[in-house]
Amino acid sequence: MKDPVFKIHLTPKLYRKDVKMWNGTAIDCYEIGCDCSKCFIYKTYFLPQKWKCYMKRYVKFLLKKVGEP
Ligand SMILES: [Zn+2]
Repeated sequence: MKDPVFKIHLTPKLYRKDVKMWNGTAIDCYEIGCDCSKCFIYKTYFLPQKWKCYMKRYVKFLLKKVGEP
């Protein structure tokens, strides 16, 4: 997986240190209220794999650290 966005979805802890700003996916997640049933990425890539989405934690972390997007 080349796209860091997917890595963040899967393992946000690893990226917390480097997080300084919102990215597109995080904003998307924030705007749908972190509801995975409305999330295109989750439905397309995660659901079929039975992966757990950690985007919600990542969004919460961004809200705390950077504030609203
Ligand atoms: Zn999600």
